[in-house]
Formats: sequence, structure tokens, C-alpha cells
Amino acid sequence: MKTIADLGDLRGKRVLVRSDLNVPLAGTTITDDGRIKASAPTILMLSEMGARVIVSAHLGRPKGEPDPAYSLAPVAKRLGQVLQKPVVFAEDTVGPKARAAVDAMPEGGVVLLENLRFNPGETAKTDAERAEFAGELASLADVFVSDGFGVVHREQASVYDVAKLLPHATGGLVEAEVNVLRRLTRDPDRPYAVVLGGAKVSDKLGVIGSLLGTADRLLVGGGMVFTFLKAQGLEVGKSLLEPDQVDTVRGYLDEAKAKGVEIVLPVDIVVADAFSADAPHEVVPVDRIPADKMGLDIGPDSAKLFAERLGDCRTVFWNGPMGAFEMAPFAAGTNAIARALADVTAGGALTVVGGGDSAAAVRQLGFADTDFGHISTGGGASLEYLEGKQLPGLQVLEDGDA
Ligand code: ADP
Ligand code: MG
Repeated sequence: MKTIADLGDLRGKRVLVRSDLNVPLAGTTITDDGRIKASAPTILMLSEMGARVIVSAHLGRPKGEPDPAYSLAPVAKRLGQVLQKPVVFAEDTVGPKARAAVDAMPEGGVVLLENLRFNPGETAKTDAERAEFAGELASLADVFVSDGFGVVHREQASVYDVAKLLPHATGGLVEAEVNVLRRLTRDPDRPYAVVLGGAKVSDKLGVIGSLLGTADRLLVGGGMVFTFLKAQGLEVGKSLLEPDQVDTVRGYLDEAKAKGVEIVLPVDIVVADAFSADAPHEVVPVDRIPADKMGLDIGPDSAKLFAERLGDCRTVFWNGPMGAFEMAPFAAGTNAIARALADVTAGGALTVVGGGDSAAAVRQLGFADTDFGHISTGGGASLEYLEGKQLPGLQVLEDGDA
């Protein structure tokens, strides 16, 4: 893969950068700016090289047309603060405003284009529609730098198709992310544990098959654990459950046993009457979940057990909170895992936190980014990498230039 240095002298050149600036927003307030901070070094480096830096990004899932609720305007403002330099916000992506903003850029200037997903071509299923939009993006620039790790597993116009149209390079963030993931897949220091949780159950089950070939231990919590408990014949009440995945999970449990991979499941659960911070809640043994309650966190004995099973690990990958951590009564399990990772990190282990909500959780709980070896900006992308899938946005960078 080519790096920015391989692109030669970029002074005065228009460089289109695909960044991942998909931050969580409450109204127009950015609740976690981790992805903006992680994207800043590449943008700053290009600007300092004298390039005209055109940043492209998406926010949320608008429906292929402008929607003010998903405008990147607040992100432009925050990006300017992080870069400590002016960021011009273009109020469209490839239209007259974007063109005017790009034409007016000085050397070293930075423009952020409006949300890529305001254009149906960005995520279009047909190659022709995507290629057309990619062509419009490419016409703004001389070269392309792919730095949005959170989207490299997507075959989308600004990630995949545009790289076929312009000389291209891998940005520093994507390079750093891939380097860490490579260490997890090639001969990791052992014991190697993977902690899985969160709510996107069916998205995350796929990776388990490959993890059973590389990890020594698999710890499961969060919303996905109830499909595991159900597979063991336990009652899960109103908890999150994917009934059509129960058989798959049972298969994983058998396979783990055959391969000698230790599966660590909770022994107790915090259950509540409803998905609400002020709902009455209590701790119950894992085999006593009442039919009318939902599990919203792993219990205190489980937190202790999980911390103990992480204590001697030399490598840990963690994706997905252990509970509904946004609500204080259900944050203790996630906090315990973060603490355990911070402790083994201090002892020299490689720890990687992946997933947008997981990263937001550790920051919300007061941990510093330096408490972990690496906080990935791409949950889905890192899981697909660990699953051994080809990521289109990385694959296309390996291929030759246009
Ligand atoms: P990530 O973004 O880290 O990959 P996910 O998006 O899969 O994680 O899941 C994060 C969400 O999972 C959080 O919003 C959290 O509230 C939710 N969650 C965790 N445990 C549970 C649970 N037991 N029941 C319902 N939701 C849960
Ligand atoms: Mg998430």
C-alpha cells in the first residue's frame, strides 16, 4: 500500500481525503469527538505539506438527500478547533458551493464537504451510480488519500470507487489501525482474549467462528450474551435476543469445546423492569432471569470473573459494552472490563478497544485513551478484518492507480 510520502510533492495539489468523522451527536452537540481527533493528524500533515486539503466524510444515515439533522456543520467547527486552523465548510458535497470553496482554497487550506450521504450515489448498489458520484468527487481533486478506517469495509463511492479514478495513498490513521489489527491476527502474545458485547448481535456473531481459531478465551456480555444463554437452555425474559441465531451459537459453543477455547459467560445479571435509567433493577443469578424482566448489564460476580480471566492476558481485543452503560445503573460491567484492560495494559499487554459505543463508553467512564494500547475508530471494519474478510476499501488501495 502506498503512503502519503509516495505521492511526491503535494504543494498546491488538491488532495481529497476520506475521513471518518461520524461522531455521536445530541442535537448539534458532539458527545464524543474521538473520531475527529483521530482524523486530525493526517489532515494537518497534508496541510503542512502545502496541499489543498478537501475532507470528505459522512454522518449518520440520511436517506440520500440533504437533511439538516445530519449536517456536518458542527463537525467542521470542532475540526477547526482540533486542527487550530480555519476549516471552510462547503454546504454541498460536489455542487456549486463545494466547487467554489475548492477554487478559493489557498495552499495549506482545509475544506470540509457536506455529508457524502446527502447524495444517493455514495451508497448506491449499482456500480454505475456509484461511479458517477465518485467521478464528481474525483473532479474536485488531483489525488486521493483514504483515511476513514471506519468505512474501509464498505464498497462506497468515496471509499472504493474514487480510488480507481485518482492516484491514491493510505492515510496515517488507516495505516496505524491496520498495523494493530495485523498484530492481533499474526501470532499474538498469549493468552489472547476477546471480549464481545454490545447490541449489534447478528453483525458480531460472524467473527466468532474465526476467533475460535485464534483466541484462547472468549468473554461474552452485553446484549449478545442472551442469545448464548438461550442456547444453553436458560430463560432470558425480555432481554435482547436473536432467536434465529440460537442454533448458530450452540454450534459455536460446541466448536469452542472441541478446540479448547475457553468461553466465559456471566454468572449473574442486572435485570430491570424496562430499558430506563430509573426502572427498578436487581442482580439475579444467570439461571434466574424472571420472564418479565430484561438483562441490562452483567452482574458484580461476573465483572469479577471477567476481570480475573483477563488478568493474565498478553493480548486483549474488546468490542461492545457489557451493558446499557449510557444509564448509570447499568455501567458497572463495562467499567470493570475497562479497568481490567487498563491494568493489563499497564503491565505491558497489547489491548485494543473497537466499536464506536465502546470507545465512547471508556471515555464517558473517565478512562484516558492512553489507558489502552489502541482505541480503534472502526468497530465494523476491525471485526471484518479479524474475521479474515477482504475489505474493499483496503483492497482497492493495493490495486494500481487510474
Ligand atoms: P459498539 O458500537 O461498541 O460496536 P454496539 O453498537 O454493538 O457497540 O452496542 C452498543 C450498545 O449496546 C450500547 O448503546 C448499549 O446500551 C447497548 N447494550 C449493551 N448491553 C445491552 C443489553 N444487555 N441490552 C440492551 N442493550 C445493550
Ligand atoms: Mg455502536
